[in-house]
Amino acid sequence: MRSAAAHSLRFVAVLCLFSAVPAGVFADTIYLKSGRKISATHVTQENGQVSYETPAGRFSFPASIVDRVTHDDSSSISTAGTSLDRAANLPIAPPSALATPSSDALASPAVRDGSINMDLLSKLESEASANPTPTAAARVVAAESAAAHFEISVGDFEQALAHYDVGLRFDPENEQLLLEDAYLHLKRSEYTAALNLLDRARPSDPDSAEIAKLSGWAYYGLNRTSDAVTQWKRAMELKPDEETRHALEKAERDAQVEIEYHEGETIHFRLKYNGGAAPELAEEVLKTLETEFNEISATLNYDPPEPIGVILYTNQTFMDITRAPSWSGALYDGRIRVPVEGLTSMTDELARVLKHELTHSFVSQKTGGRCPVWLQEGIAQYMEGKRSRINAESLTAAYENHMEFSPLSYETSWLNLPKDAASNAYAWSLAIVEMIVTVNGMDDLERILERLSAGSSTEDALRAVLHEDYSELMLSTVQFLRKAYL
Ligand SMILES: [Zn+2]
Repeated sequence: MRSAAAHSLRFVAVLCLFSAVPAGVFADTIYLKSGRKISATHVTQENGQVSYETPAGRFSFPASIVDRVTHDDSSSISTAGTSLDRAANLPIAPPSALATPSSDALASPAVRDGSINMDLLSKLESEASANPTPTAAARVVAAESAAAHFEISVGDFEQALAHYDVGLRFDPENEQLLLEDAYLHLKRSEYTAALNLLDRARPSDPDSAEIAKLSGWAYYGLNRTSDAVTQWKRAMELKPDEETRHALEKAERDAQVEIEYHEGETIHFRLKYNGGAAPELAEEVLKTLETEFNEISATLNYDPPEPIGVILYTNQTFMDITRAPSWSGALYDGRIRVPVEGLTSMTDELARVLKHELTHSFVSQKTGGRCPVWLQEGIAQYMEGKRSRINAESLTAAYENHMEFSPLSYETSWLNLPKDAASNAYAWSLAIVEMIVTVNGMDDLERILERLSAGSSTEDALRAVLHEDYSELMLSTVQFLRKAYL
């Protein structure tokens, strides 16, 4: 049958879906006069304000500190949400003060002309250390919080967390700081850290809907589904809203099924499986995952901060619970979800599926949810061991016939793709990643992921590391395929 299908894409076995609305799909870049650069979407300019969207929310700056905005006009990108957002990317809004942080940051002397006044921050800090009055502490808190807000609005969560740390040293129970700090940790899949901060905030404000809502998110991320349900129910009692209602529904769907599930645990995984599945299989799955964890961790130079949730399903329950398209064979949406009906022991195919989904989990956490879907799928396929030999001829032919693949249009969710389009996208994604690893090396791939994690747009990250934009990347990929396989 080999020759008959030689010109069509043949992707054997299952397509493993990475389900997410990647937070980092940016079509525009805002350049501040201070030199800071912000990757954003939906940039608008009105009444002397430049407003834009980032993973952390919608922000605005006075136009006077903005140098210029560049638009990528191929922004036929849909960022519409789906019911399958991964845990780190639950569509939950930030605590209220974060809703409009940049304006208050700019009103503070701690942020001037689009950059942070570090001299002022250290001056306030040494004053408060030398003479620890509530007023001195309040000044530090206000300045650090403005600095954190500024960093969030330009997409640098790492720096923002450092500012919260300083603020909390001077006012350890400050609820607003604790909530905002927790929110950033949630965005970075650091659920235990988030939960600790929320637990510190709760005693002084036990009836806060915001604390309950964020706690539900942390528990959900930690795979403590019934605790998540409890917190989100409480949040709905205190102050109902749409996003909590959606999150609660999703968690309740999970909880309903998981109630009859058995559990298994290793250092890096929490596994749940249906009573019908063989316990030996569950054990083998955990063993395989632990081995694969070490391999991926060494290759991508990253250790996820929390145990990863894995759920084994019968095929029908998988479809019912995940509401995934019929072409998907497994799924990562914050948990690894794999249908295993009929299997009693580990197979090569299952081991590959597990490695594929586990890679999604690593990449997603390493980039804080900012990796575009085509790159996610390329890396996951590469790590599970797939190579482009089988597709080299049809991909290069398609390129020559100008039926070129445009990675930009495949940065966001693939959930609504028909099967053929999905197969094509998987094949190109693999080819691109295979080219990057072979020609440039795994280190470059890692550098790209690091740039994405720091808030860079995908094309900026490619330009910085590989010195290629999307169209040059496609050309390099085709050249690589010809050289390697044809
Ligand atoms: Zn996948």
